[in-house]
Amino acid sequence: MKNEIEIPLIKAEDVVAANMRRDKYSLTRDVQAREFNEAIVTRLLAESSKKIKCDKCGKEFIISLDEKPSLSCPDCR
Ligand SMILES: [Zn+2]
Repeated sequence: MKNEIEIPLIKAEDVVAANMRRDKYSLTRDVQAREFNEAIVTRLLAESSKKIKCDKCGKEFIISLDEKPSLSCPDCR
């Protein structure tokens, strides 16, 4: 019979590995968010709704179709 209670010890290496995983995850999430934003711009242009809300100042601006799709108004570019 075993009387000892096993307490899982968190090794320093595990903490470092977990931090690295978290950094990698947030980087992936940032990329996905950017791709998602680009998809929104593309969809808005496709729907001929050329009014886009600036992702920096929140001001709505009109984007022309020959312009490169952007989420930032001319003032923030
Ligand atoms: Zn702006």
